[in-house]
Amino acid sequence: MKGLMQPNPMNLVHVLEHAARFHGRREIVSSTVEGGIHRYTYCDALARTKKFANALRKLGVDVGDRVGTLAWNGYRHFEAWYAISGQGAITHTVNPRLFPDQVAYIINHAADKFLVLDTTFVSLVEGIQDQLRSVEGFIILADREHMPQTSLKNVHCYEDLIAGEPEEFAWPELDEETASSLCYTSGTTGNPKGVMYSHRSNILMALAVNGAEGFGLTTMDSVLMVVPQFHANSWGLVYSAPMSGAKLVLPGPNLDGKSTYDLITNEQVTFSAAVPTVWNIFIAYLEEIGGKLPTLREVVIGGSAVPRSMIKIFDEKYDVKVLQAWGMTETNPLGTLNRTVPEVMALDHEAQLDYATKQGRPLFGVDIRITNEAGTSLPHDGKTPGRLMVRGPWVIQSYYGLEESVLDADGWFDTSDIATIDELGFMQITDRAKDVIKSGGEWISSVDLENTAMGHESVAMAAVIGMAHPKWDERPLLILQLREGASVSKDEMLDYLGSRVAKWWLPDDVVEIDVIPLGGTGKINKLSLRETFKDHVLPTI
Ligand code: ADP
Repeated sequence: MKGLMQPNPMNLVHVLEHAARFHGRREIVSSTVEGGIHRYTYCDALARTKKFANALRKLGVDVGDRVGTLAWNGYRHFEAWYAISGQGAITHTVNPRLFPDQVAYIINHAADKFLVLDTTFVSLVEGIQDQLRSVEGFIILADREHMPQTSLKNVHCYEDLIAGEPEEFAWPELDEETASSLCYTSGTTGNPKGVMYSHRSNILMALAVNGAEGFGLTTMDSVLMVVPQFHANSWGLVYSAPMSGAKLVLPGPNLDGKSTYDLITNEQVTFSAAVPTVWNIFIAYLEEIGGKLPTLREVVIGGSAVPRSMIKIFDEKYDVKVLQAWGMTETNPLGTLNRTVPEVMALDHEAQLDYATKQGRPLFGVDIRITNEAGTSLPHDGKTPGRLMVRGPWVIQSYYGLEESVLDADGWFDTSDIATIDELGFMQITDRAKDVIKSGGEWISSVDLENTAMGHESVAMAAVIGMAHPKWDERPLLILQLREGASVSKDEMLDYLGSRVAKWWLPDDVVEIDVIPLGGTGKINKLSLRETFKDHVLPTI
């Protein structure tokens, strides 16, 4: 027997319709590419979204077409986002920080029909224009006055395009499994692969994220969405903020410490999300000016491991709770979140900080387990590391263009992360499978070593890579980027680590580098470090 409730399919544009109808006065505030602040309401955003939907129809965009975006978080990008997927086309967010050849590869692979871009990225696209096979035209997110001179062919000005269009658009009724958005993995190994989200997967994730065990946003919140829309849908915030009627603050290209601080202060931001690199820069600025964060309640940090020192300073000095999140492009992206539980609250303060370095528990909908190489489940004892497997309605089934399923026989996706899960259900990433250091048949966690090294006051950033070793197979090399003006000798560093990690984990060598290279999503680029240090000889050989 079937239930007798309304079977209406979920469409992402309902999120914006809801925000406009019931939180219509709530603001979207954007720091713009042109300079200055733009502010309007969800109600205004919906009207302009419908105008753009009409304009796209006129350009020939149809259900199932891909429209690429190369843009910062801003109000026009937000409108384009909902207009594209609301009418059944697919918002393909392209990460502009990738190499130009990768950007071209991704656009061709997705066969984008149009590209929507900020003026910032015009020269990037000009440089690859000749390689693009499917793109029929370019829409620049600007008004007439700010349109750049460009060699791009078939260029449209966004404001001109929407100017004469009606503020009404009949959104089509779409099956909820219709593709809504496309995001490519950052391609640190091989070519980037496309993950095709559906209306259903996004809405289910946004609902879960909005629960009190998730981000717990309400209409009283002011959300600074630092994590880019091109970084796995800004971790779902682009949906969960309007869904809950929260005020949305979009930083545009301005991700430096001062801009972030000004937005937090001026817009009374209560909640924000970004990768550790952004918060590092922010905290350095905050400390320098002696700033305060009276309105900020929580920050979500994820994408790579969050150093304990960052959690500590936010908590003790600024009274801001850090919620660590783990996820990947393949998980839409939110998989786990670290919110505390009574058992952890009962511990002393330092132990609570230790616990906050774990990646957290899955939200309802996501299931996780760890397995050995043979695929057998491993115990949840907080000690045994295994391959992290994940499943759920917002987890990938197959990559775009590659039909075969990437799941195992029981429907689990292998994340290529190595993790432990403890008795309370908290997962902790100990490494990526390819980064773990295999020494004498045991595993050394590069992430743990990096985090510990970053606790030293002279260290701005630390990276650990495995170096071939004739006796042990691999041994760790610690690479340090020091804070400005700071210095630390190898022996001092090894002493510092010696009291904090197992003896056999101690790096065989410590080297300094001016800048540790980061990849397109702010993670340490270990591929490039391995290349740089491929001829380095460990003193222990
Ligand atoms: P995203 O674009 O969301 O960063 P990617 O697919 O590029 O996702 O990378 C996902 C990987 O990033 C994960 O498999 C994991 O290795 C790493 N990661 C994400 N969040 C964390 C975290 N909180 N701690 C440690 N590693 C993380």
